[in-house]
Amino acid sequence: MLPPEYAELFDPMQFNVWVKIDPAKVMGASAWYAQRSEHAGGKSVAARYLDCRDAARRGEYVSLEWILHLRQLPDALDSVPDFAVPGSAIVSDEPIVPDAQTPFCETHGILFTARLGCSVCKDPVWHKMPPGLRERLHRGEFP
Ligand SMILES: [Zn+2]
Repeated sequence: MLPPEYAELFDPMQFNVWVKIDPAKVMGASAWYAQRSEHAGGKSVAARYLDCRDAARRGEYVSLEWILHLRQLPDALDSVPDFAVPGSAIVSDEPIVPDAQTPFCETHGILFTARLGCSVCKDPVWHKMPPGLRERLHRGEFP
């Protein structure tokens, strides 16, 4: 196992995980987001509830606010919170907010920044795709 700093050097890009909220689990989602931001003076559960309810109603993707390296994505996909619609998790380059025009790399399963291209395609030596990850990723529907 490589020391973390070394692995980071060879896996420099960061990605964000997005899911859809199960409309029957809006309360759970609200509590999850409120708890995450509690120490940062974030929104209350009540305030989060409105955001989560609206996103669930509209079938929108919400960010899990997990900023991760490629090597961390398999574990992250295994621990998506249970308010997420099963199988809805998708991955984008950080910091983009994907929309219907965001390009998707069919080879790597990642939504990427049009201006920059897919970071894994551009630099496969630095970005090693964990085995089996591509099969778990999909385009989703945006917005
Ligand atoms: Zn690619």
